[in-house]
Amino acid sequence: MKNRILPPLKPNNRDREYNFYSDELKAQVIYEHLFNNKMHRWMDINVLGANGNTNGRNSANILYYLGLKADYRGFFEGQSIDEVIEILNSKGERYADVVRLLKVQAKTSRLYETVISDIEAQEIEEGNYVEGTKKSYFVNKYERDPKNRKKAIEIHGLNCWVCSFNFEEVYGERGRDFIEIHHIKPLSTLQEAVVINPATDLVPLCANCHRMIHRRKAEILTIDQLKDLIK
Ligand SMILES: [Zn+2]
Ligand SMILES: [Zn+2]
Repeated sequence: MKNRILPPLKPNNRDREYNFYSDELKAQVIYEHLFNNKMHRWMDINVLGANGNTNGRNSANILYYLGLKADYRGFFEGQSIDEVIEILNSKGERYADVVRLLKVQAKTSRLYETVISDIEAQEIEEGNYVEGTKKSYFVNKYERDPKNRKKAIEIHGLNCWVCSFNFEEVYGERGRDFIEIHHIKPLSTLQEAVVINPATDLVPLCANCHRMIHRRKAEILTIDQLKDLIK
């Protein structure tokens, strides 16, 4: 697959659409064309925001200007964007514009994936995560149980264990008695009921540190690991 011969590039000089649209939109048009086999009309409507009467000329002219004709449609289907950037890079200058725009698209996709995974981690933490078809609620009852929380605050105080942040010091009355409570055993190991010892199992954390600890659902940090990160 990697060494297939690329169709010839057939660029033209009609640059009106190419100059009109932003790099982000052009990058997405190229991506949909090369990787997702999308038709010009579909891209005009769904990427470039044209109304339903479009004949697809806008995205077609962007692609034609770069020399990407119909034989490139879906040509890289199933390949990763980084892999294709590497292939086209090795073909020299003539692909420079395409490579530049694919890099824009790669950055956008990465940010999008990060945002999705952040929202997922937050939903797990908030206890309303739904995975696949089977609903599995990881209700974070240990961190949220008011009795546990009150006990933990009485024992450990209201300062973040990682960065010492204190909500009342910064926010005044609005922040009084506020701190988040974190259970130091990863959530996934807490599927069945266990007895919680607030003295050893729960720690106070500010909202920032708490979110960073849970940010990657497959890799929940320990208190010491997070302390090392902010040293
Ligand atoms: Zn903190
Ligand atoms: Zn937590």
